[in-house]
Amino acid sequence: MHPKEEKTVVIVKPDGVKRGLVGEIVSRLEKRGLKIIALEMFTATKEQIDGHYPKDEAWISRVGSKTLANYEKYGWDAQKELGTADPLKIGTMVRAWLVGYMTSGPLVKMVVKGVHAVDMVRKIAGNTMPAAAEMGTIRGDFSVDDATIANRDKRAIHNLVHASETPEEAQHEIEFWFAPEEIHDYKRAEEDIMF
Ligand code: GDP
Ligand code: MG
Repeated sequence: MHPKEEKTVVIVKPDGVKRGLVGEIVSRLEKRGLKIIALEMFTATKEQIDGHYPKDEAWISRVGSKTLANYEKYGWDAQKELGTADPLKIGTMVRAWLVGYMTSGPLVKMVVKGVHAVDMVRKIAGNTMPAAAEMGTIRGDFSVDDATIANRDKRAIHNLVHASETPEEAQHEIEFWFAPEEIHDYKRAEEDIMF
């Protein structure tokens, strides 16, 4: 595979759609030199969201660990806030909140292609916790949410976009969300100049 053929999945979450940020998000990806090769607004079912997010304990624990790191940083007590300091139990709670969040309104799903697409899109999206995300990133420019407040309200962090974390995760998500005929190819005018 040529390096500029790498693909990743981006989903504008319900807060991004309801805040009118679809165009802004697509625009940031396009301006950077990434190509949108599939795009659709749809409403997901609970079963679809359950199938989208990984189910393995390593992933669930890692999500719980993000909460623990955030609590440590700000001096919050996980046991007192959530009744547990076990990353697996916290991750399981977050995963259930995610299903509610991701089915609370329409989503916009995209396949994005380009040089190091997975890493580039993660960089453009920014840190999972918007309060910790750098300025200039989607999450850093448009949100200030984080685990402390989201957990207190028993909901997922509202961070505008989902982006695949590895090429393997991207491959699974492309197959999960898109039929082959929904993915297109074309040449962008500036390709010959940019790379
Ligand atoms: P991402 O790849 O940056 O989106 O982050 P993860 O894959 O770790 O988590 C998936 C999604 O779960 C995030 O985008 C958030 O919406 C939500 N989330 C992750 N960690 C937490 C957390 O500690 N607390 C809450 N309430 N939500 C979280
Ligand atoms: Mg993730």
